[in-house]
Amino acid sequence: MGENVCGVCQKKEAEWKCSVCGVALCSECVREVQMENPGQKVLGVQTSPLKSAVRKQKVCEKCLKEVDFID
Ligand SMILES: [Zn+2]
Ligand SMILES: [Zn+2]
Repeated sequence: MGENVCGVCQKKEAEWKCSVCGVALCSECVREVQMENPGQKVLGVQTSPLKSAVRKQKVCEKCLKEVDFID
């Protein structure tokens, strides 16, 4: 295990960072916010590499609950 460990579970290797608080996130702890239409939010969706046209942000679970993603 390297030094780049997930800051949430502190077990798995981090692959992303929370775009809000900057905590390191592994593939299990990362949450993705998708905004497919203005004013519409879809929270807690599992990562999907297929929808590249959708605006996405990687966040931690804590920020997913606490932050409103409104432009
Ligand atoms: Zn983790
Ligand atoms: Zn966060």
